[in-house]
Amino acid sequence: MSHDRPRVGIVGGGLTGLALSYYLDAHGVESVAFEATDAPGGVIRSGRTNGTVVEYGPQRMRLSGSLADLVSDLGLAGELVAADDDLPLFVYADGKLREVPTSASAFVRTDALSWRGKLRLLAEPLTDPASPDETAAELFTRKFGPEAYHTVIGPLFGGIFGSDPARMPARHALEGLIRLEQREGNLLVPAVKRLARNGDRAPAVVFEDGNQRLPEALYEATRDRVHLETPVESIRERDDGDGYVLEADGDRAVVDEVVVTTPADASAQLLEAVAPDAATRLRELRYNPLTLVYLEAEAPKRGFGYQIRKDEPFHTLGVSWNGVAFGRDDLVTCFFGGMWEPELVSEPEGRLARLACAEYEAVTGCEAEFLEVERMHRGFPAHDDTWDALDGLELPDGLHLATNYTSRMGIPSRVSHAKRLAGQLAGTSADA
Ligand SMILES: Cc1cc2nc3c(=O)[nH]c(=O)nc-3n(C[C@H](O)[C@H](O)[C@H](O)COP(=O)(O)OP(=O)(O)OC[C@H]3O[C@@H](n4cnc5c(N)ncnc54)[C@H](O)[C@@H]3O)c2cc1C
Repeated sequence: MSHDRPRVGIVGGGLTGLALSYYLDAHGVESVAFEATDAPGGVIRSGRTNGTVVEYGPQRMRLSGSLADLVSDLGLAGELVAADDDLPLFVYADGKLREVPTSASAFVRTDALSWRGKLRLLAEPLTDPASPDETAAELFTRKFGPEAYHTVIGPLFGGIFGSDPARMPARHALEGLIRLEQREGNLLVPAVKRLARNGDRAPAVVFEDGNQRLPEALYEATRDRVHLETPVESIRERDDGDGYVLEADGDRAVVDEVVVTTPADASAQLLEAVAPDAATRLRELRYNPLTLVYLEAEAPKRGFGYQIRKDEPFHTLGVSWNGVAFGRDDLVTCFFGGMWEPELVSEPEGRLARLACAEYEAVTGCEAEFLEVERMHRGFPAHDDTWDALDGLELPDGLHLATNYTSRMGIPSRVSHAKRLAGQLAGTSADA
């Protein structure tokens, strides 16, 4: 097989696509990437309001593993702002902000759980093993007790996806946790070990001028082979069966392998001709719409912010104190919608502003001023029961999905996924 053409075609110039292009180059594998919009980064977008940096996508990231190496390779380490490593997170329950325990001493001192709730949680090794057939809510409740689930684990875990854990099958949402229990025999001991190591935990960071700096720097490093404003319209097999053809805005790229990194609906459309069964499955996946409301307000405590327990009389899902955590003046980001109230994404701005300010003031006692609203009709992949459609998903040789709905969503995971896949494709390349 000759390699006088790009070996890998990448669809999407979000973090996954750009990191993949970067790592393929490090392996000496030629690639070409297409991004539909005029900016690199996908959901990672930053801006400014009243001079303060605002994140329209991810608010922060853990500087772990491959991400830490990538940031340092790109020469960006000096542009990071790290939160204090002892900064707590809170849950609002029964009229009060309560500290989420992230250390053994915080577990003893927190009033988020009663003594009975704490003892029940410590009985986890006596419970039956996690089952892939239960929901995340059932698994957490059964293993850690109803109180720990209701007040702490449910709001935090559901908050990551904007989803209701009662609609998230454990086999999709908690695969890693199930494997951990199988390996270790229980979940409590690894959790305690992790708490004990908390001082070594990767710091939570943002980029000084906004998190979009990361994809921008990746784009600067890969711009000779990443084409912005070039949506891929179709993927088809070459007539001789030797590779694929990407049609992108009048351009054609003939490649050996294709990696699709786009959201599920776009991927379904692109895979229709080459993998119709996979396309049908991808169309099933639900996304949770999200509405982010930005406020200028003081925070009543030091912390990352809070999640709200689901039975409290509020619409707010959670709040990030980016001012406190990362020195971004008095910036507060409030999250609304998700699976619980998807329709909020279409509410008029005035109502959202009033809701966010009134609820923030009720929870914290601090006065709030409205800044702006960001609406995401396709927010978080829900990782709910619609993920059953992915059971048995198969792709023809040479086609790959590298996405935040077929594997983990967080920024460090997206980077390590891209790195791993680049290594695999380089291996294939060496074998070819
Ligand atoms: C609101 C929000 C908050 C988050 N918060 C955090 C957080 O605090 N911490 C954290 O670690 N992670 C967070 N995440 C997760 C993380 O940011 C994402 O999982 C990750 O950035 C996704 O990157 P990606 O490249 O896989 O996908 P995307 O960013 O979705 O990129 C896909 C790209 O494909 C492009 N595209 C679509 N169709 C086509 C086409 N036909 N042709 C060419 N290009 C196309 C799109 O324009 C887009 O740029 C958050 C995600 C969201 C949405």
